[in-house]
Amino acid sequence: MSALEKPTFEITPLQQWSSTSKTPFVIAGPCSAETEQQVLETIRAIAANAPQVNMLRAGIWKPRTRPNTFEGVGPVGLPWIKNAGKEVGLPVMVEVANPLHVELSLKMGIDALWIGARTTVSPFNVQEIAESLRGVNVPVFVKNPVNPDLDLWVGAIERLYNVGIKKLAAIHRGFSTYDKSVYRNPPMWEIPIELRRRYPQIPIIVDPSHIGGKQDMVQTLAQQAMNMSFDGLMIETHINPDVAWSDAQQQLTPEALGSLLNTLVVQETNIEKNSFEHLYELRARIDRIDDYIVELLGERMSISEEIGVFKKKNRLAIHQAERWANIVKRTLENSKRAGLTEEFILKMFQQVHNESIRHQEKVMK
Ligand code: PEP
Ligand code: MN
Repeated sequence: MSALEKPTFEITPLQQWSSTSKTPFVIAGPCSAETEQQVLETIRAIAANAPQVNMLRAGIWKPRTRPNTFEGVGPVGLPWIKNAGKEVGLPVMVEVANPLHVELSLKMGIDALWIGARTTVSPFNVQEIAESLRGVNVPVFVKNPVNPDLDLWVGAIERLYNVGIKKLAAIHRGFSTYDKSVYRNPPMWEIPIELRRRYPQIPIIVDPSHIGGKQDMVQTLAQQAMNMSFDGLMIETHINPDVAWSDAQQQLTPEALGSLLNTLVVQETNIEKNSFEHLYELRARIDRIDDYIVELLGERMSISEEIGVFKKKNRLAIHQAERWANIVKRTLENSKRAGLTEEFILKMFQQVHNESIRHQEKVMK
């Protein structure tokens, strides 16, 4: 990685993608196109209930975890979504997983494409898709890979950027996990936040439907996305979710989508243009505390190294289970008094302890 230069993405700002780029940038539509009527009714109802929507989605080719489940209607569905979009005056997008999908979609005049989580994981697939898009000026949305790997996500975006795609956005749809979780795909917000820190010019759309996996989680997740000032939302919407052929549990009705968008609180993101004196003051205090935390951690590690020297001289093992158990006990008691969750403090001190061991190993060598 270090031999590679950090890509410089010059991306067309979302607001310039089309005449309908309202903020936040909302994408809605069914998980899958099922029938011409289902697509048309869903899209009409979305347009009627949710004027905030910028773009419509429908999966035509569905990458399914297991075979013998509904794998999409295929190319017959392309005109369904294109025509429905035309009727309500909104651009439409489909998922593409190979160059043939790209070719068929572009031929039908599909306005934008997205790359699914199961495709982003494969550099060969993404490269092939990118090659088929060379010289084509179509917006492409790149979902994160199923596994929590930021570089793989950036790499896919880079492959598309390198063939000349300038309208590029990331879609955060959560990351799959083997552990039990309330989420279908835990959001691990730190990953999209880190993506934005590294590449602030890449718009990030959040997909609360695939993160939550349940209708009743979509609203909260969408609001969280706005609280973190992400750029938009992709929300699966179906005229009759109960009978949907895929992702039935997470799709909203167009009415529910409308009320979600109406109640969504979208905070001011451009705080620089306002004079929020109080906010600046609070942030300055946080910065001072953060500086102090780092300084204290540095001090803690140098004491650790001194202990390492002592352990080496006296042939003591680095890790002393009893000492660690006492540290955990004491800090957890402190955490209660400080109003911090045990989970947070335990995780944080495990990291501190690991770093401490690294410092001692260094002096032991
Ligand atoms: C989808 O958008 O319907 C889909 C298959 O999503 P993902 O690639 O995020 O699993
Ligand atoms: Mn889906």
